[in-house]
Amino acid sequence: MIKRDDYKRIKKSNTRGKILGGSSSLNYFIWSAIHHDYPNLYDPKFKKLGTSRPIPISRAKLISEMQPFRDALTMAWISRGVPTSENVYNGEMIGLTHCLDTIHNSQRPGSFLFVENNPNITILSSVHSRRLIIDKATRACTGVTMIAPTGAELNFYAIREVIFSQGVFETPKLLMLSGVGSAAELVKHSLDVVLVSRHVGQHLLEHPAVPFVLRVKDNFGMDDVLLRPSPRHDAVISAYRSNKEGPMGSGLLEMVGFPRIDENLNQDLDFVCMFGSAFQWHFPTPKNGSYTSVVVDLVRPVPKGGEVTLNSADPLVQPNINLNFFADDLDTIAMREGVRWAYNLLLNGKGFKDIVIDQYPWNMPLDSDEAMKRAVLDRSQAAFHPCGTARLCKNIDQGVVDPQLRVHSIKNLRAIDASIIPLIPDCRIQNSVYMIGEEGADIIKAQHSDLHKAL
Ligand SMILES: Cc1cc2nc3c(=O)[nH]c(=O)nc-3n(C[C@H](O)[C@H](O)[C@H](O)COP(=O)(O)OP(=O)(O)OC[C@H]3O[C@@H](n4cnc5c(N)ncnc54)[C@H](O)[C@@H]3O)c2cc1C
Repeated sequence: MIKRDDYKRIKKSNTRGKILGGSSSLNYFIWSAIHHDYPNLYDPKFKKLGTSRPIPISRAKLISEMQPFRDALTMAWISRGVPTSENVYNGEMIGLTHCLDTIHNSQRPGSFLFVENNPNITILSSVHSRRLIIDKATRACTGVTMIAPTGAELNFYAIREVIFSQGVFETPKLLMLSGVGSAAELVKHSLDVVLVSRHVGQHLLEHPAVPFVLRVKDNFGMDDVLLRPSPRHDAVISAYRSNKEGPMGSGLLEMVGFPRIDENLNQDLDFVCMFGSAFQWHFPTPKNGSYTSVVVDLVRPVPKGGEVTLNSADPLVQPNINLNFFADDLDTIAMREGVRWAYNLLLNGKGFKDIVIDQYPWNMPLDSDEAMKRAVLDRSQAAFHPCGTARLCKNIDQGVVDPQLRVHSIKNLRAIDASIIPLIPDCRIQNSVYMIGEEGADIIKAQHSDLHKAL
């Protein structure tokens, strides 16, 4: 995860959804804004995203018991002189806000909804890709070999083209297993070289995050209700089961803040009204008390990039992932100042400072730059927005796919997922991934207009 000359850290797993709907079936629901440096940067046609079915986007359903928590946070935020806003989607991305979510009627509407009522789609569950079938002489892709749960290999052939969307880690892995990648990587694993494409698996970008936890007064957190066994816990579960009511249907991210710490420094701050083990995996789960979890996201890291390489030529073995966080000291400094800003808000801001009992489980060494640098390196983790490993560029000397999302120098092969994003958006990226899906679909429909009309 971090591979500097003076510091190395390995985190064991990088969560992804190997499931229908992919990571949209397990993500944290948030539909966050993007900061536009350039007016009119985006094609207005993408405005349709999120405004209608199949994937409804709505304001987060707030937990009524947490109104005092939200009031205290809002008071603190305003006392720091930063605005609140219910429109962080206007391109400026500044303020404290109630987020939009991919939660509808207290349920998750993931990308799996796109296949609902589409009888022309066949889904094979529990299969795993082995390699793309590419003719070495013509460099035309004609199909894919899959591994069935029994271990049997199944070949599927395409009449027109092969489209693959395996996500940021498995898309470059499949290309490499199919003989498309850097010469060194293919030779290292004794893979037959079909095409040397040196950017495959490179330029992996991700938002580094530093989470921290504060113990707050009782009744300002949901820990007793949601995390620990109790009659109240049983009651909220049965309320959800019977009519989808109550806090079990909430994303728990009660508020999101976008301050401007500096003219050039955007941060994304998440305020969760209980101890969130998903982000604080390196903290012991508290046995009692109420807590606020805060996640500080660095939305514009210096784009030095990490990489995805092969651990093995065996398709069932996970690839090797190096996020390469904090390769540039500017990122360490930006994160340090973001964490300081958030602590200052909560420990000294009007209202919230009155409900904080203590830091948990370790104090943040706020007064020392050196100790803060170490805390950032020790406590950081992925924000789960990786992209870039099959990046879109003009030609094979710069990237992996062209603007039509076709893999450079391979015929009849298109990649459509987060791996094609060349520069990490300064927001949660599921909206960008859906935009790529929409654009990819339009490109395919235009290219195969005879087929599209026939359907
Ligand atoms: C824990 C977590 C929390 C997140 N929270 C948010 C959030 O709150 N807001 C937000 O905007 N974004 C969030 N994201 C990011 C967002 O969900 C992803 O960016 C997005 O889903 C990526 O889409 P994708 O199509 O590129 O890949 P994926 O969604 O990962 O889909 C890849 C698909 O390929 C399949 N696949 C993979 N390997 C193989 C193989 N070898 N053979 C066959 N099939 C394979 C998988 O089953 C899956 O269906 C989160 C991600 C995670 C993991």
